[in-house]
Amino acid sequence: MNNKALTTTQTTCPYCGVGCGVDINSDGSQVEPVSGTAAHPANFGRLCVKGSSLHETLSEEGRLLHPTLNGKRASWDKTLSLISDKIQQVLNTHGPEAIAFYGAGQMLTEDYYVANKLMKGFIGSANMDTNSRLCMASAVVSHKRAFGADIVAGCYEDLELADLVVLVGSNAAWAHPIAYQRIVAAKQQRPDMKVVVIDPRRTATCDIADIHLAIRPGSDGFLFATLLAYLEENDKLDQNFIVANTQGFDETLAAARAACISLDHSAELLDISRDALLSFLTLFASTEKTVTVYSQGINQSATGSDKGNAIINVHLATGRIGKPGACPFSITGQPNAMGGREVGGLANQLAAHMDFAPSDRERVRRFWGAPALAERPGMKAVELFQAVRRGDIKFLWIMSTNPLVSMPDADAVKDALKHCELVVLSDCMGNTDTAAAAHVLLPAASWGEKNGTVTNSERRISRQRSFLQAPGEAMPDWWMLTQVAHRLGFAEQFDYQSPADIFDEHCRLSAFENNGKRDFDLSGLTGMSLADYDALAPVQWPVNASYPAGRARFFDDGRFFTANGKAQFVAISPELPEQRQEGDLNMNTGRVRDHWHTMTRTGKAPRLAQHISEPYAEIHPLDAAARGIAEDQLVSVSNSRGAITLRARLSENQRRGDIFVPMHWTSRYASNARMGKLINETRDPYSGQPELKITGVNAEPF
Ligand code: SF4
Repeated sequence: MNNKALTTTQTTCPYCGVGCGVDINSDGSQVEPVSGTAAHPANFGRLCVKGSSLHETLSEEGRLLHPTLNGKRASWDKTLSLISDKIQQVLNTHGPEAIAFYGAGQMLTEDYYVANKLMKGFIGSANMDTNSRLCMASAVVSHKRAFGADIVAGCYEDLELADLVVLVGSNAAWAHPIAYQRIVAAKQQRPDMKVVVIDPRRTATCDIADIHLAIRPGSDGFLFATLLAYLEENDKLDQNFIVANTQGFDETLAAARAACISLDHSAELLDISRDALLSFLTLFASTEKTVTVYSQGINQSATGSDKGNAIINVHLATGRIGKPGACPFSITGQPNAMGGREVGGLANQLAAHMDFAPSDRERVRRFWGAPALAERPGMKAVELFQAVRRGDIKFLWIMSTNPLVSMPDADAVKDALKHCELVVLSDCMGNTDTAAAAHVLLPAASWGEKNGTVTNSERRISRQRSFLQAPGEAMPDWWMLTQVAHRLGFAEQFDYQSPADIFDEHCRLSAFENNGKRDFDLSGLTGMSLADYDALAPVQWPVNASYPAGRARFFDDGRFFTANGKAQFVAISPELPEQRQEGDLNMNTGRVRDHWHTMTRTGKAPRLAQHISEPYAEIHPLDAAARGIAEDQLVSVSNSRGAITLRARLSENQRRGDIFVPMHWTSRYASNARMGKLINETRDPYSGQPELKITGVNAEPF
């Protein structure tokens, strides 16, 4: 560090949905080792190893520094004009449905807002989707069906106040480390507190589990249907809450009973012992203060929406919602999946928690002064790239994500881009698989160089603040989008000078003609000065006259956002995943502890490679022996879509018949480990979320 004065900046970690506050000491060009923000309510000073290594990831290596057109450096002006000209030409020739945007839960809320507004209000199509479709779209569906709005009921403090924390399809110890550490600390303080982990794998999260149910992959719906039937049979329902605050219980109970013929039958479906099942049922039934945390093991499923509702159903049936230490709790993977869905960043949303109902469209149209408001939902991620492959999408703008690695059937996505007339990628990195396939590369400002807000899993809005100059000609996404909007003739409607202007508009839209019907707006954050925006302290939405300092818990007043104010039970007929046709093993995918997504940032910090240094396939020793696979041997994991090569790890933490493959390694870090290319395009019928946990594969020595 040189002798220039250091400035401390408080910002938010760019990795997982826990959304920890990070303190940065920087002189504007170099950064000292980071620390956790002591006062940030998500982490109170703690950071996991990814967060505490952030200062090691800030090099310019691999960064996109200048706009490029077909590999040649070009000026911003020329590049932005080419993009707007192409959009106009496609609009004139093929109409708005031939244009698509694909974003990411890495984008800041302000970036998301502008992209969404430009696409849905001014280009005139809702073909704007995001990699959050791969992360939590099913949780959105289940929230909206049950609560009438996409609302996370509780907060992180509930994890500490609960007497029972049930973690379903979540390896929180690795994927949400600080939230997990809060549970660990609470359990140390109150040893009577219980933890149940429901996961086909034995993961690091199980280290604190009193009960681990290694259920059959994809059978979670049966477990929670069985639980509902058991609660009713044993007189453990909150009848007062059901009668006063809910609707649809009788049909839901009937469906649960139909699915749960007997405990023996359920245990057989779940592939666990009756005793293990009963121990969970009795513990849940007898513990009032219960939080059920669920994550990708629930969401990334062909029946993820139903599974989410099966979890919510048991909380509604027991009145365990809206109370300290009692709620269903969907934890998001990405740093701003929540902020994206709040501004309408999914193809089936319009804006500010509004959909495509005529009244919503009219509100948004008037507020934006939108000349071409999209009339209907757009294509969700998988359909969107299928349309690209058919040649139906002529112009595609990808922002801050690497779909050639992360999407199901990733090689088909790679092929799809060849059928598109112009593919634009705005990203901070220039050496990704997707960058190699794009025609236009726009250098994006990265974490630490840009300003805006993110929302974490407990609805807490936090500032990301800049502390470094963006390198080369890198610019924030909102600026690029705004410049294109200006060139399309919408300068007045996109007259933003800073992210603060955009945030203010987002807050005003949330309350526009709301008439108090949906009391979860941000009207209390409108009209902030630049200084106020810069100083904005972390706050849980809503922020309005009723909740000027934010709201920790929803539904504590028994009021939901359905038409009659009652929560909706959703009758679920659980199903097991379809039989694997493509191999005799089931491939499960997920994160490792010290890497993030496609490693563009974590790949730069050598100490983050120490935990797990190369892509691997974890398989039960007996399954390995049956295939002649030895520990540390290279194995080929394959199906009809292709083959990848990984290092074998033998572990009884895997169920027989399952194989686990991490999601992170791209062509840059391993020659052939992109797991996305094996994954089929099966998805949830309501949310469109792909089934990333169930893929038939074969494995053999390489
Ligand atoms: Fe960042 Fe998540 Fe770790 Fe917190 S828990 S420091 S948000 S990666």
